[in-house]
Amino acid sequence: MKECTQCGKCCLLYSDGGLSARAEEIEAWETFNPTIAEYVVNGKIWMDPATGKQLTRCPWLELLPADSADSPDKYGCSIYQDRPEDCRHYPTSIAEMVRDECEMIEVRDLNAPAQAQKTLDRLMADSRPPAQ
Ligand code: SF4
Ligand code: SF4
Repeated sequence: MKECTQCGKCCLLYSDGGLSARAEEIEAWETFNPTIAEYVVNGKIWMDPATGKQLTRCPWLELLPADSADSPDKYGCSIYQDRPEDCRHYPTSIAEMVRDECEMIEVRDLNAPAQAQKTLDRLMADSRPPAQ
């Protein structure tokens, strides 16, 4: 299992309607981060503040400066400390990582998925509950 490469695939894949936020998170944004709350409509994220419609890409996803001319694109989250739990909890399982082509996964993880899940759960222990 590798460190996250910040390839951005997960954000690009899920931010067009595949993410959710809890009522408590939305309330916290309304109180402490009204700019984030502007992108919530009827409890749904991420919505266009001007039209109220679902955005096709997360407004907080930033393309970072390239390390070199031939290095792959790298992305950051401009609300990293305040991102929804849904984002904090990713990735949750080896099957999900394979499906989403997450770059953290390595060939040895595919050969020993149970062990890889334990490694993932340990890596993610601070940001999410372990996968069931
Ligand atoms: S809020 Fe941050 S982590 Fe979540 S989809 Fe957007 S850029 Fe990615
Ligand atoms: S798909 Fe995996 S490697 Fe890429 S940004 Fe998401 S967690 Fe990181």
